[in-house]
Amino acid sequence: MSKQIPISFEFFPTKTDAGAEKLRVVHQELQLLKPEFFSVTYGAGGSTRERTLSTLNDFNGKGTPVAPHLSCIGDSKERIAELLDLYQSQGIDRIVALRGDLPSGQVGLGELPYATDLVRFIREHSGDHFHIEVAAYPEMHPQADSFDKDIQRFCDKIRAGANAALTQFFFNPDAYFYFVDRIQKEGIDIPVAPGIMPITNASNLIRFADGTGAEIPRWIRKQLATYGDDSASIKAFGHEVVVKLCERLIAGGAPSLHFYTMNHTEPNRQLVLDLGLA
Ligand code: FAD
Repeated sequence: MSKQIPISFEFFPTKTDAGAEKLRVVHQELQLLKPEFFSVTYGAGGSTRERTLSTLNDFNGKGTPVAPHLSCIGDSKERIAELLDLYQSQGIDRIVALRGDLPSGQVGLGELPYATDLVRFIREHSGDHFHIEVAAYPEMHPQADSFDKDIQRFCDKIRAGANAALTQFFFNPDAYFYFVDRIQKEGIDIPVAPGIMPITNASNLIRFADGTGAEIPRWIRKQLATYGDDSASIKAFGHEVVVKLCERLIAGGAPSLHFYTMNHTEPNRQLVLDLGLA
């Protein structure tokens, strides 16, 4: 059994009433595992504003704290301030602060072009009310000029007032350990929670990885390819790979794990149970 560390679960806002109803069930099921918090994503430029708010309303005050994601690119300070005030009035005290990626067709970076600007703005506007998480990229953000510059910019986000970080998903634990080591050498000592992406479907995984710049090691790609459409084998292999990854991360000192649930109970629940983290 692994050392006990906290877990958190990420949801995205649903598009339909039926989807919202399904997510309420998933929320109840995952809540039984006693996560530290649930987070709910937010489309850049405010594109999911109403849906993110409605998903938050479903879960806020129902036991486990909820943390809205808030992205700044393409948005105005005024609209972001409105959301911060609303969240504060609803008793929400944790936020995931991101730059976001502009939806195609939308132009203009807005008043806060980078996550550092958003973190600074949250501190100016709301003082110390929010515990702020930011994004971290152990394998480098895909648009960064270089790994070193990305590290410096990550450290700037923390110096601007962020408290902790959640990472992009990855399958190479050494990338995570190296990243944590590098920021510590810059004098940044904050909890960095690895983002865990369960493996259940080869083509979806490859699509997500291509979209986010996350690397799928060759041996995983090759092994997944040999299973073709054999979903049971993909899930069994994926489970084993992700359990081993989490075990290494926990043994190496990861402070908590953040699961990209894709709005499903399984395989997240089984991973948490098998890791002994419930
Ligand atoms: P930043 O930290 O601002 O960095 C973005 C890029 O700009 C990096 O390459 C960085 O090196 C560079 N940079 C930073 N500062 C400067 C500067 N001053 N000058 C020049 N370059 C600079 N997206 C959403 O839209 N909604 C979500 O809910 C969401 N949730 C996420 C949750 C997690 C845990 C993660 C890891 C990502 C999430 N994303 C979300 C995706 C994220 O918005 C994108 O990865 C986005 O491209 C970068 O966001 P960031 O906050 O890391 O940006």
